[in-house]
Formats: sequence, structure tokens, C-alpha cells
Amino acid sequence: MSKIAILYCKRIQDHSCIACAKCYKGIYERNGEFARYDDIELVAMTDCGDCPGLAVPRMKLLNEVANNLERPIEKLHLGTCIKLAMETAECPIDYDHLKITLEKKFGMDVVLGTHSY
Ligand code: SF4
Ligand code: SF4
Repeated sequence: MSKIAILYCKRIQDHSCIACAKCYKGIYERNGEFARYDDIELVAMTDCGDCPGLAVPRMKLLNEVANNLERPIEKLHLGTCIKLAMETAECPIDYDHLKITLEKKFGMDVVLGTHSY
């Protein structure tokens, strides 16, 4: 069972995908970036920390909560919404830099994207 968490874009969550229904469906169907897993345990979903790219302090808080609840996060997905924000809406997140920082700081794998719908 892979324990995953998902970050969504604070600016467009509930606008591009209402109630994150697309990621829940994607997990159920092992669609898109979820195809790599046999079993998924969704530990948490939360926002990116907002512009201008405050994902590191956000993940520090989330990681502490997950560890305190004895549900450590193994894989962190940046939602497809964040990927789209980076590609089309001038999101300030530098994915390559953020991935290295989060993997070093918190020891979790970081993946860009979630569902493909
Ligand atoms: S891509 Fe996923 S995390 Fe982002 S808003 Fe859509 S359902 Fe939510
Ligand atoms: S930093 Fe990027 S992902 Fe986060 S709210 Fe701003 S545009 Fe969205």
C-alpha cells in the first residue's frame, strides 16, 4: 500500500475540478500518474500554500501532522491543477527545484501530476 498525499493549486481548486472529484476518480481507476501503484492509501490533500509558491512551509506542516498520526507520506503528488498552472498561468513554482528540496527535506518522492482527465 503506497501512502500518498496530493497538493492542489489554491487558486483553481474547486474551479477546475469541483471537490477534487477528478483525483478521487483517478485514484480509483489508477489513471494518469496513479497508474504506477497497485494500491493507494490517500493520507491527505491540501493546498500548495498559495502564491508565490509557499509549498515548502506547507509541506513541513503537513509532514508533521502525518507523522504525528503515524501515517507517514511516502509519495507526494503535485496535482494536475498545479501542472496546468505552471504551464498556462504563470505559477511561480519551479518544479525541478521544489522536487529536490522536498525530497531532501522530508524523504518522500515527489511526482508532478495526478489524473489525465
Ligand atoms: S487536479 Fe486533482 S488536486 Fe487538483 S483540483 Fe483537480 S482534482 Fe483537485
Ligand atoms: S503557487 Fe502555483 S499552484 Fe500555488 S496557488 Fe499559485 S499558481 Fe496555484
